[in-house]
Amino acid sequence: MDLRRTFNYKTRVFSLIMVFTWLVAFVTFGIYYFREQEVKAQILDSQLQIYNSHLLNALKKGESYGVEYAINQNANDSIRFTILNDSGIVIFDTHGVALGTNHSDRREVIEAQKHGHGFTLRRQSSSDNNNYFYSAQKSGKYIVRTAKAYNTPLINSLQGEMAYLWTILVISIMFSILAFFASRRFGGNINRLRDFAIKAERGEDPDFDEMQFANDELGEISSNIIRLYKARQKAASQRDKYYQNLIEEEQEKNRLKHQLTNNINHELKTPVHAIQGCLETVMSNCDKLTKEQILDFAEKSYEQIKRLCALLNDISAITRLTDAPQQIKVEPVDMVDIIDEVCNEMSLYPESQQMRLNIDIAESMPIEGNYSLLKSIFSNLISNSVTYSGGRDIFITSLDETDDKYTIVVSDNGIGIDEIHYDKIFERFYRIDNGRSRRNGGTGLGLSIVKNSVIFHGGTIVARQRKGGGLEFVFTLSKQNN
Ligand code: ADP
Repeated sequence: MDLRRTFNYKTRVFSLIMVFTWLVAFVTFGIYYFREQEVKAQILDSQLQIYNSHLLNALKKGESYGVEYAINQNANDSIRFTILNDSGIVIFDTHGVALGTNHSDRREVIEAQKHGHGFTLRRQSSSDNNNYFYSAQKSGKYIVRTAKAYNTPLINSLQGEMAYLWTILVISIMFSILAFFASRRFGGNINRLRDFAIKAERGEDPDFDEMQFANDELGEISSNIIRLYKARQKAASQRDKYYQNLIEEEQEKNRLKHQLTNNINHELKTPVHAIQGCLETVMSNCDKLTKEQILDFAEKSYEQIKRLCALLNDISAITRLTDAPQQIKVEPVDMVDIIDEVCNEMSLYPESQQMRLNIDIAESMPIEGNYSLLKSIFSNLISNSVTYSGGRDIFITSLDETDDKYTIVVSDNGIGIDEIHYDKIFERFYRIDNGRSRRNGGTGLGLSIVKNSVIFHGGTIVARQRKGGGLEFVFTLSKQNN
């Protein structure tokens, strides 16, 4: 039987203390009791030795004196007297032992022969079958022996003090009670710690609030263990979360890459097929086609090639931003210069498409950034307003700047878009009106490039309706790029 499984730690500690306590109590009491009995026996022996000495003195005067002394004392004090010769043969006995009986094998007689005196605590007399306490003394040619009946009063007088027994008993009981509470307190800590360890090993979540430990060293150690465990659990869950995020990020990246590849294939096929069609027509009908018709096919092919170039440029910008942002160089630039440059390019649009530019920005907006990416933000937003808004005005405003950020608003007073598209227009290849966008040479990547450029510069961007109509983009840019 495995005691460790049957009894818990508290019970085992308590049982061990109990066994030890009561063992010590019994042994101490036993030693004391028997020592006291021994001392009392020696005192009784000394008392009887006085009679022995008197008897020996009487015997020195003559055997008859000795016998007379023995008879008198026996009558007075109820003490049995025996006179033996130095070989242990009985010469006289007040209790009628047959003369000539050999008592040389009696313990007290052997002791007296060896050391001059000796006693036997209790022995049954062969003559009257009563129990006696015997004390013997040897002097010259006599051994004299006195004996006292081993009756109840003698037994009582020889017993050890019972008060001592009670003292030990009370101390042991008090110690047992103390041990009970101490082991309960001590064992309680251990049991709680054990429950905690079992739950932690099984992967269950231990109820930390229930784990109250006693206010002592063991309790302190236990609380520290729990604290360390909690800190470890927290660190482990943070680490798991971190790795989970990394995995999710990686999965999302792969998903987007896959989506991008599919979309690119699809987007590239259209202009490539168009060019292929134009060229095949021209090649197989060159003798039938007029010069004007051939020029028309050449122009259509040229338009598709321009579309292809725009697509490849945008794809390369997006790939660079998402796959290798660390390779993009940053330098000190002033955004006022960038906005000026983009606004000047408005004159390159056909006059019918040109819009009024309303600029309200700070005098200078220095920033650590990438010039061409920052320019792509403004050029994409402005060209979108020109292409899709149908409005008259474009507004570029810088709001109150903070120590580390600029907030800029670019808007137009055109037709705007439905609010369900506000988030989606930043997705790659998302177009609201597919046909119109393609006709206008849109790649569906413009606002995705804008959003990724803003993120690269530590900012965020939202699209919303402009008060008074039109579409409004609000974005922030960090002054320092880390
Ligand atoms: P594209 O490169 O095809 O222009 P974008 O990502 O730049 O694609 O824009 C996504 C869609 O958002 C466009 O197809 C267009 O329908 C809509 N859009 C963008 N800017 C505006 C605007 N200023 N006003 C109205 N619609 C806009």
